[in-house]
Parts: sequence; C-alpha cells; structure tokens
Amino acid sequence: MNPIQIVWFKRDLRLHDHAPLRRALESPEIPLFLLFIEEPFYEEDPHYHLRHRWFIRESLEDMNRQLRAFGGKVHSFSGSAPEVFDYLSNQWEVRRVISYEETGMEVTYARDRLMQAWFKHRGISWIEIPQPGVIRGLQQREEWHSSWQREMEAPLCQVDFAKARWPKVLVPERWKPQKIANYEGQSLHQTGGSTEAKAWLHSFCTQRSKRYRFSISKPGHAVLGCARLSPYLAWGNLSLREVVQHANAHKLERAFQSRLHWNRHFVQKLETQPDIEFKNMNPAVDGLRKDCPDSLLEAWKYGKTGYPMVDACMRQLRQTGYLNFRMRAMVVSFATHHLWLPWQSISPWLASCFLDFEPGIHFPQLQMQAGCTGIHTLRIYNPVKQGMDQDPAGKYIRYWIPELRSYPQETVHQPWRISPLERLLLKEEESIYPKPIVDIETTGRNARKQLWEAIHSPEAQQHARVLLDRHVKSKLRKFNEANRSNGPKN
Ligand SMILES: Cc1cc2nc3c(=O)[nH]c(=O)nc-3n(C[C@H](O)[C@H](O)[C@H](O)COP(=O)(O)OP(=O)(O)OC[C@H]3O[C@@H](n4cnc5c(N)ncnc54)[C@H](O)[C@@H]3O)c2cc1C
Repeated sequence: MNPIQIVWFKRDLRLHDHAPLRRALESPEIPLFLLFIEEPFYEEDPHYHLRHRWFIRESLEDMNRQLRAFGGKVHSFSGSAPEVFDYLSNQWEVRRVISYEETGMEVTYARDRLMQAWFKHRGISWIEIPQPGVIRGLQQREEWHSSWQREMEAPLCQVDFAKARWPKVLVPERWKPQKIANYEGQSLHQTGGSTEAKAWLHSFCTQRSKRYRFSISKPGHAVLGCARLSPYLAWGNLSLREVVQHANAHKLERAFQSRLHWNRHFVQKLETQPDIEFKNMNPAVDGLRKDCPDSLLEAWKYGKTGYPMVDACMRQLRQTGYLNFRMRAMVVSFATHHLWLPWQSISPWLASCFLDFEPGIHFPQLQMQAGCTGIHTLRIYNPVKQGMDQDPAGKYIRYWIPELRSYPQETVHQPWRISPLERLLLKEEESIYPKPIVDIETTGRNARKQLWEAIHSPEAQQHARVLLDRHVKSKLRKFNEANRSNGPKN
C-alpha cells in the first residue's frame, strides 16, 4: 500500500496559519491527504442546521479553489469517523493523522475518545495540536492569560504547498456527501470561506470599525457596524491570531480587542468543564425551571410573543443566522426569565439559527444570561425598554414585523396600547399581531425573587467560589468577590 499522511480538518477550514498543515509539510515526501468528514451529527443533532453544512461546503470549495494551483484538494467524505478511517486505512498505509484539538460538544468529544482508541489499536499516530488560546487540562487560570498573550503575538504559521505531494484519490460514490437542499433566508446569510472572511476583516479594519461603538448594541446597525467575523472564527476560515494581529496593526479600539480575548476565554470554560453543555454551572439553580410548555417555546422561536423587540430579533436571527450580542442576551433573558424556560430547552434552536454556532461560547453565554452561574450579575432585560433604547424610531421592528408597519410611533414598542380608534384603521393583516403572551412585570419579579434566593443560598455561594477558582484568574476573582460583580460584560 502507498503511504499517506492525513490532515483532518474539523472547525479549522482554512489553508493559512494552520499548524497541522505546517507540521505535515515538514515531511513533504509523504503524500498529503486532506480530509473533511461530514459526520452524521451535522444532520442528526438539533444544534446543527443546513446553514452550517452550506457554510462548511462553501469553505471547502474556497479551499479547493486555492489548492488548484498546487494540484491539491480537500476530500470530503460522508460517514462516521471510524468508518471513514477504516476505509482509508484499507486503501493506504496511513503513516499519521494530524489535526487540531477540538473543544466541542459531547458528540465530538466522544468521537475523539473513540478515535484515540481506534488509532492506537491500528498503530496509527494521531497528532493533535492545541488550538492557540485553549489549554487542555488547564489547572490555573493565571497560566491561561499569559499563554493567550504569547499565542496571539506569535508569528502566523507559514504553510507552503510548493513541495507537497498528493496521493491519487477517487472518492467512491458511497462516501461522497449528498447534495443538500436550500433553506429559508439563505441569500441573507454570510458566505463561507477564507476569501470572504478576509474581505469582511479588511472592510472592518479599514472602514466599518469607525461605527463599532455606536452600532454594537443596536441590532439594525450591528449588521454592518460590528465585525461580523464570528462565523469565520467559529468555522476556522480565519485564525483568531490573524484577527488579533490585524486589529493591533489597525489600532482598533479596545472594546473590539477585548471581545477577541473573550472568544477564547469562553471556549476555555467549556474545555475545562465540558458538562456545562448539559448541567447548570451552579447546581443551586437545579430544578427551578421544570417545564417547557410547547406553546411558549414555539411563540418565542417563531417571533410571536407579542413583544416586538423579541419577535423582531427572533425573526432576524432565523432569516439571517445573525444577531448582535445585546439582543442575543435579551432573547435568552426573555425565554429563561420571563417565559421561565430551562436554557437547555432553547439551546438547540438558538445554536441551529446561529451561523456562528461555537459550543465554547454558546453554552457558557446561555448559562450566564439565564442566571445559572451564580458568579455573574443577574440581568433580566425589559424588552420594551430595550426596544425604545436600541430602536427608538421603531425602524428595525417595522422591518422585521410587517404586521406592525403602520403602527404609530407611540405604540410600535407596545402595540397592546393602541387606541380602539387606531385599531379600527389597521389593515386586516396588521390586526393579527399577537397580544403579549406573559406580563413581564410579574414574570420579571418572580424570576428575580426565585433566582436571587437560589443564588444567595450558602450552597450556591460555595459553588460560586469553586467556579471562580476554576474559571477566573485570581486578580479578577478578588475584584469580583469585592464587588460581587461579574466577568466580561458586553
Ligand atoms: C446566548 C449567547 C450565545 C452566543 N453564542 C455565540 C456563538 O455560538 N458563537 C459566537 O461566535 N458568539 C456567540 N455569542 C457572542 C456574541 O454574541 C457574538 O460573538 C457576536 O455577536 C458576533 O458578532 P460579531 O462578529 O459582529 O461581533 P463583534 O462585536 O464584532 O466581536 C468580534 C468577535 O469577538 C468575539 N466576541 C464578541 N462578543 C463576544 C462574547 N460576548 N463572548 C465571546 N466572544 C465574543 C467573537 O468572536 C466576535 O466575532 C453568544 C452570545 C450570547 C449572549
């Protein structure tokens, strides 16, 4: 059998600043097999959606366009990792497999554990290279900060395909990923691939960043005023290091640079404590939210809660795959505090809508916004106030909720206040906008009381100390303890 070495791509879909590629190309005499596996969980796990598969495929096409000049190609296989590697190792002598370590959900963690045993059994060496900014087996948060700094300042990994040798590959039909259907709102989504990603990075660094501070909390303005780099970072079309270095070179403001830092700060939390995909970070809140009434969940998912700002955001998210940070926090707060839904019940829908779904940010942020950590300030957003603050003229709301287009300015944020006379003047399709499904005065009060009591119990305080030790470096921990405040806010 002919020898090959495999670079296995996962959420690192780029050809530049890529340590596994550079490692492989240190031995250019071994033919290089570039592999992506479209694994069953992309179809089966409710956190994933067609939008992610499209984005991945666009990213791979972009990589293949770049590789054409060198005669290379990324080969996509459909199947489970053991099946695919079984096939490959029956065709070639697999000398080694190189990939980045992945901080993902249980489904990918379990796959990696299985593959470790599988490779060992077959005598194949699997070299897993740490993601810059994430430390496996981290004991002390202090270490993390200095390592992040070092990693981000390091020069980009140069990848030179000039000497690469490529194996002859014909992927049999049985392994080829099937055609996938289009989905609603597809044309409003960002396109995958490093070429697109670099264009977004360039336009942000040179022009769009001027509006960053003004736009960051306003959902309508954030669409162009924020960087919009998150799907490119989540799927690895850009490396975080190159974005940090670009931001430095263009002297972008601190508000932006600190958010790049938060990216890996959150991913490290999931790496350190993977069970936060399922369990409350602070068990003192276990069992508080028991039921998940379908009617409330469905109203929230499809933007029919009767609260215009929540509904506009949920509709935008579903159509475009994007929502700015403040509004993500607000829709989670609405679902978990006002509707009192467990965060676990809203997680799959949100993740499947976010084009930038990044487990390492998603789960810690969900828990933080739902008040389940006990170490962050409890924030219960008032969606009416958010609407008035972030969209005073109601332009954004009217855009996403056609039913409210002709509502007068005074009532667009509170359509239930429309006068009987004005109601008579509405067109038929405008009168179908639902009445509020809950009374936020009451629900907000109840949520605050229950969470406050749970989080201030001696048991919760004890857990909070453990969490602070595990996830927050000591200087910040002391600050938090003194101020009873939180970690990063946005
Ligand atoms: C409930 C909830 C879930 C979230 N899930 C995700 C997710 O799955 N994937 C994801 O990338 N972001 C997530 N975020 C964080 C944040 O909302 C997005 O990163 C941001 O809105 C992306 O838009 P942008 O690239 O224009 O951001 P910018 O404001 O331009 O920021 C630049 C980059 O900094 C990072 N960043 C910004 N804010 C945060 C933050 N609060 N925490 C961590 N990193 C941050 C992102 O990588 C982002 O691309 C979530 C936030 C909440 C409240």
